[in-house]
Amino acid sequence: MSLNLPTPGSALAIGAHPDDVEFGCGATLAKWSAAGAVVHHLICTDGSKGSWDPHADTAALVLTRQTEQHAAAKALGATGECVFLTWPDGELESGLRQRWELAYWIRKLRPAVVLGHDPWKRYRLHPDHRHAGQLTVESIVAARDPHFFPEQDLPHHRPEALLLFEADEPDHVEDTAGYADAKLAALHAHTSQLLSTMHIDENASISEVEGQRRAFDQRVLARLTEHGALEGVPQGEAFKLMAEL
Ligand SMILES: [Zn+2]
Repeated sequence: MSLNLPTPGSALAIGAHPDDVEFGCGATLAKWSAAGAVVHHLICTDGSKGSWDPHADTAALVLTRQTEQHAAAKALGATGECVFLTWPDGELESGLRQRWELAYWIRKLRPAVVLGHDPWKRYRLHPDHRHAGQLTVESIVAARDPHFFPEQDLPHHRPEALLLFEADEPDHVEDTAGYADAKLAALHAHTSQLLSTMHIDENASISEVEGQRRAFDQRVLARLTEHGALEGVPQGEAFKLMAEL
């Protein structure tokens, strides 16, 4: 188990849906942003299935979720791009077209560190998370080697490190003491997800909503504590680190 990478000059966090990045590595990104790193988000799908309301206007939901993602990035202190690839939610594939797009953005943004879903996480139900992880790994190979997708007409780029969140076999912890509030603020910025993801029912009474909000925050804080304990720090986010790319 290792602790803390040097603060990178720039980082690109790749998530399947708006909010995945905040769950997976929000406190780490807040820490790096505060230390001067340029933090970019790339979201693979349009998030159009992120509602439990069968009558939801999904076109409007897509735009809402993009606005929320911008607000979440701001809550983390991120100053980089928010890129939305808008593949249909729930139908993401790790094919060549998608790999082409991710490799393009890695070459364009030239991040020192890439963060993404662990594609090898066992018993994972959601296909988008698995495919987004697969794409992250595969697009790094395409981005770093000059003969992949030469028509992109961008210099190839090899990131220094890849951090996989939701790691099946975590071997690296980022100490995130002091950044839990930023992570929580960023998660709460995804207001369309209050009910489906955070189990906060805004139609409940004020005291019930407060209780649900506290319970959600406590779950997030408990996870930070659990991950920090892997490397003996009070709070952290755990990853699988791949450093030889
Ligand atoms: Zn997700």
